Amino acid sequence: MNDHSEAESPGHDRMKAVPGWNEELESAFSAYKGPYIAGRVESRHKTVCDILIPGAAVQAGISGALLRIGKQPVVGDFVVLLDQPETGSRLVVNILPRRTCLSRGAAGEGGGEQVLATNIDTIFIVTAAGKDLNLRRLERYLTVVYSSGANPVILLNKADLADNPARLVEKIRSIAGDVPVIPLSALSKTGLDALNPYLKPGETVALIGSSGVGKSTLINALFDKTVQKTADVRKDDDKGRHTTTVRQLFLLPNGAIVIDNPGIREIQLGDSSEGLEKAFSDIISAAQNCRFKDCTHHDEPGCAVLQAVEEGLIPEERLESYHRLTEELVFQSKKSEIGLKRLEKEKHRDIAVTIKKYRKFTGKP
Ligand code: GDP
Ligand code: ZN
Repeated sequence: MNDHSEAESPGHDRMKAVPGWNEELESAFSAYKGPYIAGRVESRHKTVCDILIPGAAVQAGISGALLRIGKQPVVGDFVVLLDQPETGSRLVVNILPRRTCLSRGAAGEGGGEQVLATNIDTIFIVTAAGKDLNLRRLERYLTVVYSSGANPVILLNKADLADNPARLVEKIRSIAGDVPVIPLSALSKTGLDALNPYLKPGETVALIGSSGVGKSTLINALFDKTVQKTADVRKDDDKGRHTTTVRQLFLLPNGAIVIDNPGIREIQLGDSSEGLEKAFSDIISAAQNCRFKDCTHHDEPGCAVLQAVEEGLIPEERLESYHRLTEELVFQSKKSEIGLKRLEKEKHRDIAVTIKKYRKFTGKP
């Protein structure tokens, strides 16, 4: 666990406000009178949160009532704290409305979504020259990012290792639509200036990407010092054990906010189709001309998407990728439906048990 010196959050002492705070939040928070303060979750542990409040970092517990109604504070959340100076304790009692929400389909049979981080303006999808570079995986990440409501930017890291980085950038652009693609080298600190437009005071940026692409190295380069252990150090540290991965929010000296997302290996889609439609806008727009409105673009006659593939306008692998992700969405949404049904069943059972107890108590039939 962290120690809570302010030095852990570079730049924070310069900010006398909650990082990323804005007027909308101010007006949502104005409903709270009395012993309440606002803060932002810096990192979430099992039962407590590290929270940045104006000018300081504190630790707070989480209200049991909040957890019982299924609200889990996560990194990036703006929260309301009940401040109890007499006991020296602070409790998260509410979460202010989330502007954007990065989530993934939860593992396990229950389905549903797991929220990873919130209130992010821009998400850097980090990939690297070399074997990680995989257009299909990038399509998946784009879908997830679009679903979150944040703006995607693709970073091609380790450009120093590529013979021809420009060609790789072109390759990525072929699937990226309007999304900016930025080549850089976190290790040699070249190309980092191109990130400045996204790292503005009060703006929140998150990094996602497979392990090993250089996210920690990039964060360290942005801070110009070690704030996050890179793979080499992690390996030495834990001698083969899995490192515990805590998502954390960092403050740049200029007041920009960066959220690291270690440990997202294979990201599952959530259960919204919006992101898919944005990530594959070329396919969606070709589909306008399919003969059947419910065309699935598999083998229907008059399918404009298949036509576009035939004409070489849409790569076949891209259509396959679209089909695969669509299937996955259908699966996720079925899974969460089953989860909901089970919940509903449990609710009825609980109510029945309660009524039975009540009748026994009152002696009514
Ligand atoms: P993470 O798992 O995404 O956080 O990746 P790390 O930051 O731990 O980096 C993984 C490995 O890639 C380390 O050995 C880094 O030194 C190396 N690395 C990171 N960025 C670059 C880069 O721009 N160029 C080169 N050549 N290596 C890099
Ligand atoms: Zn079609």
